Amino acid sequence: MNKRKFIKVLILGLLSPLVSLQALAQQIKKVIKSDTEWKEILTNHQFYILREEGTEKPFSSAFNDEKRQGEYLCVGCKTPLFSSKMKYDSGTGWPSFFEHYPNVIATKLDFKLLMPRTEYHCDICGGHQGHVFNDGPQPTGKRYCNNGAGLIFIPKA
Ligand SMILES: [Zn+2]
Repeated sequence: MNKRKFIKVLILGLLSPLVSLQALAQQIKKVIKSDTEWKEILTNHQFYILREEGTEKPFSSAFNDEKRQGEYLCVGCKTPLFSSKMKYDSGTGWPSFFEHYPNVIATKLDFKLLMPRTEYHCDICGGHQGHVFNDGPQPTGKRYCNNGAGLIFIPKA
């Protein structure tokens, strides 16, 4: 083995445990439950929204008019997804946010309607939260149109 190859092998050997530890840490923080387990901790309506990608009726959530400062947590795993600072009144009838906390939201394309939409969910437990559109206010231009039933609100003390 020449010197350069030796160094390359040495570096790979040093890096690989780090990489796998990081992957492991990401797996650990995920919340994974069976449908039966989710039904034990969620109401039927929450289960319909989070686990069956349901959509609540517009203007049905009290969070639509919530103006207090505080944190919005995923009702499934209690991870903070949004703060009141990210919320705005979109007039659509669903709680709307122009931004979310980093590393807690994942998206996928949803073809349930004729026009494909971008579905988003809590990246920790996989619970469906809503759809994201590109007609939100600056600085992001995004509108995270969220089911109130997917959230719990913790007012700032
Ligand atoms: Zn969650």
